[in-house]
Amino acid sequence: MRLLPLCLVSLMVAPLAFADVYNKRLTFKETTESSLQSFIQIINQETSLQFSASDFLVLEERDLATSHYLMLAQVIEGVPVAGKSIRIWKDIKSGELIQAEIALDKASEAQSDLLSKKFQKAKFNAKSLKSISLGQYAFSMASQIVKSHPDDNTIHGFKSMDNWLNGDLVRTVTVRGRRGEHKINISLLKNVVLNSSYKEFPQADQFMDIDAKVFPIYEEAESTHTILPRIMSKLKYVKTQVASSEADPYVVLRTQRFSENLYNPVLAETAAGQAQGYWSTPMLKRKAMELAKNLPQKPNTFENGLLLDGLYTSINYHPAAKLGFPNIPFELKPSTKFYPSWTQGEDGLYEVIPQAGLIGKLAGSSEELLNRVARRLPDNNTEELIKDGFDEVQVYWAVTTFMESLAQNGFTDPELSTRPFNAFLYDPDIGMRDNAYYTDDTINFTTYSPEAGNAARDNSTIWHELGHGIMDRLMGDFITLADTGGLSEGMADFCAALVIQDIMKDEVYAGSKDYRILNNTGFSLTNEVHDDGESYGGTMKDILALAIEKYGPEVGLAKMTDLTMEAMRLTRNNPALTAQGWFGHMLFADERGNDLRAAGDMADLVKQALASRNFSWDGKVAADLIVKNGDVVVTSNTDGSREHPIRLKLSDDEKVNYNLKVSLKSVDNYKFQYPVTVKVEFHKGALQGAIHWEGEENSPLAYTLQSEEDVLDINLTASGKCDSINQPDGSCKDYAYIQIFNNGHENEKPSAKKRFYLKISAKE
Ligand SMILES: [Zn+2]
Repeated sequence: MRLLPLCLVSLMVAPLAFADVYNKRLTFKETTESSLQSFIQIINQETSLQFSASDFLVLEERDLATSHYLMLAQVIEGVPVAGKSIRIWKDIKSGELIQAEIALDKASEAQSDLLSKKFQKAKFNAKSLKSISLGQYAFSMASQIVKSHPDDNTIHGFKSMDNWLNGDLVRTVTVRGRRGEHKINISLLKNVVLNSSYKEFPQADQFMDIDAKVFPIYEEAESTHTILPRIMSKLKYVKTQVASSEADPYVVLRTQRFSENLYNPVLAETAAGQAQGYWSTPMLKRKAMELAKNLPQKPNTFENGLLLDGLYTSINYHPAAKLGFPNIPFELKPSTKFYPSWTQGEDGLYEVIPQAGLIGKLAGSSEELLNRVARRLPDNNTEELIKDGFDEVQVYWAVTTFMESLAQNGFTDPELSTRPFNAFLYDPDIGMRDNAYYTDDTINFTTYSPEAGNAARDNSTIWHELGHGIMDRLMGDFITLADTGGLSEGMADFCAALVIQDIMKDEVYAGSKDYRILNNTGFSLTNEVHDDGESYGGTMKDILALAIEKYGPEVGLAKMTDLTMEAMRLTRNNPALTAQGWFGHMLFADERGNDLRAAGDMADLVKQALASRNFSWDGKVAADLIVKNGDVVVTSNTDGSREHPIRLKLSDDEKVNYNLKVSLKSVDNYKFQYPVTVKVEFHKGALQGAIHWEGEENSPLAYTLQSEEDVLDINLTASGKCDSINQPDGSCKDYAYIQIFNNGHENEKPSAKKRFYLKISAKE
């Protein structure tokens, strides 16, 4: 029995002078004595060393179901010797010993005076070891190691522990990466990294990364049609095993009818309600998820034809694409992803048909996937786009990048942060053309007219739509916005802006200054949701800019992303969320710090950003842009608004005339700066250009307001003959866009703006 250990020891003594270990296990069979002092006595007898109670530090003490557990670390100068301890289990009732396991480093104890001297010479003490500056120093050494790692170089959390290791004072920093854990040992006596190791989390082989060439922002700048370059990147988190099904797995759900008259999100959650046929989208999604969970798995390999099916998204085609595009050279089989498709039944009621999407172009090899071409076809021919198969690559990358970026900065909510947003490409419905939209955990794409950009290659659009999805998930299904709903559009823009900032930093590229979120729009100074959204989005973008200025690009972005997500959680299912409610909750979230933010980090920045936005905390007193059509003040609810355009039936040679009166009202915390320039735009706004306005060739028409008392007369004349038809009923709908520019800001974006809508049909 003696020979083997001796032999080992002789091999190990030379290089590991300190690894002279004392091991002992005691149980109730030998003694019932359970005090530390009694163990020290035994240890000193057997080792001839002079351990005392001060050589031990309680690391853990707790009641277990059957015992009281105590763990004492062996320490020198208050710092544990790595892995060395006394662990004691006592009977929870009698206090008598159950067992004690002792593992001590004799060499460290024998040389503890020497180690203490090293410790004191380096000017350490218990307090300095815990100091922030030492912590930051060690962390920066560790983060350099992590950042140079080829595969996993982002930081998702860390912890550290000081130990004596082989006679050296060592801080072990454990950094949680995206897919694994880094351990970095730093000698605090020598100020060097001793060694580091990396271990992937066990589940990491569920996924693989595949090389791809993608557009980091978009293929084409909207205003100039400049084509941007692609970059080398990776399609991350592609599953190595995917669900498989020969037929549509959701057919079984069609035994029930999911019609609009039985939609009830409250009753659908009760057994009684379900028995009466009530349903809701969340309930239907859960049923579909249950079916999907039980599908057989198969390896997702290039040999089998690789599916872009990953952690955050999967790429499918719209179920109607098979009929819509008959001339493609591969068969469109059902995928395993759920697509709730709304159609109108024979009785006129709308209903959801539960069905699967379609599998698109399978990848035959990594080279084939990498070399898929991104052609900007002059006619945006959908069948050609399908043959190229590049849209799949871009959308997969865009969704995954979005989710990963937010996850790194605080979006880690269980289930909500990992539930995929499945993508459905090529909805053939011509009425949906030039569109991308989010609904119920899906991101959807359509077809494109020649002049329009391909939305599947426009991350800023994809990320906006996904922003609606994040809002849905964090703010809940029952959230109600109190005003026009501008927060929704502003938040979607802002979620996109957070990810754009993460990917592009401060790089300037074609269109980088054109984003809607870069604006001066004040609250209560518009009359529809998209313009109202600009004040929300613009304010949050300003806070982000201030945070970056104060804390630097990475930290500033992380703080603002995290703060936004936290405010979203804290307003979950708010029954009437106002701008005051939203920003108030942002301040409240700021009061409660966390790992990414200290309490109070952001409050001043939030207030500073709001100061230029016609915002007041009581929501009562606000400056105003008053546009009057006759006696009617045009708002989002009156005639002349987007939802209530003035409807006219005119013959080609008829004309119609409106006299609008425009004036401004300042308040204490928001003053217009005179002379104010008023511009009336007829062309450049979204969906403008269909109505023929007299004088539109000189758009924008410019006017001046000299003072608060000044009232501007704007004469608008529209012709009965449309420049183009932009409505399904054969009419044209368009607006005059009245925009306010403060003195000195004429070449920036307006501070206030209102739209005046007409809808003109031909007289029979
Ligand atoms: Zn939107």
